[in-house]
Amino acid sequence: MYYNNDTLIYLNGKFVKANEASTDLYSQTLHYGYGVFEGVRAYATEDGTRVFKSQEHYERLKKSAELIQIPFHYDVQELVDATYMLLKKNYLSDAYVRPLVFCDPNMSLTGPNNVSIMICAWEWGAYLGDKQLRLTVSSFCRPHPRSIKIEAKVCGHYVNSILATNEAKDKGYDEALLLDSDGFLAEGPGANLFFEKDGALFTPQLGNILPGITRATVLELAEEHGIEVKQGLFEPKELFAADSAFYCGTAAEVIGIASVDETVFPKAWKDSLGKKLQDTYSKKVRENSTTATTLSTTLS
Ligand code: PMP
Repeated sequence: MYYNNDTLIYLNGKFVKANEASTDLYSQTLHYGYGVFEGVRAYATEDGTRVFKSQEHYERLKKSAELIQIPFHYDVQELVDATYMLLKKNYLSDAYVRPLVFCDPNMSLTGPNNVSIMICAWEWGAYLGDKQLRLTVSSFCRPHPRSIKIEAKVCGHYVNSILATNEAKDKGYDEALLLDSDGFLAEGPGANLFFEKDGALFTPQLGNILPGITRATVLELAEEHGIEVKQGLFEPKELFAADSAFYCGTAAEVIGIASVDETVFPKAWKDSLGKKLQDTYSKKVRENSTTATTLSTTLS
């Protein structure tokens, strides 16, 4: 359950009870998926709650809205502050935070009219669990970048993710791997892909995937470790010949991939570059941060 009778959400500048908040059934977002959202994680650190990469997430929310012509009237720092306040009011520390920008009633295919924002949060463990994943290559491809704004986190795009995940689970796998419309490796339904070969990492280039904030963090951490990362267009056969692989995303964090269809990666996860980055990532998200201290003391 994501909320109970006491849960508060942030709605258009106010904190209101989740079970008393309502939205209009003629919302353009509900009918057409015309809205944008984010997935953010907060972590308990020694200095209090820290919302990891909060600025980056709200900047991406703003960019997603602008890319699909939804006016974004909100100040990024105010949304960051509201998130800390929301967590505090709900006594949450290790939590998943979901901001959503949604559109008011409008049944036409133009617009939008007015826009609303809500932020909610709940406790959520590792999204894909902590065991290495068994993937299958999906029969669904990622949407063509000329059909939609692939770099925006748009509500409606997630029908593609749901179809791919359901298909993978129906076939007995943990998760799907989607190719782009040209047959190159793209990403998971909610995570970016990396694979390791001969001591280097490889990841699909931006253009046909969501520019993941965790992907960017992993690139930074790889650089700190002196690991070479190549970004490009890669074919599935290159993944099948890899030593190891992993997914990364805010909800999934860094999670090893054991196999893709019949191919089992030969390198033990504990010896892989992914494991090294998984350990560093989980340290990094719980690092002390001056921002967290400042905010948690000012928002009382
Ligand atoms: N790809 C897709 C399709 C996603 O939904 C997500 C989750 N937002 C990611 C990649 C990973 O992005 P991030 O690291 O910013 O969470």
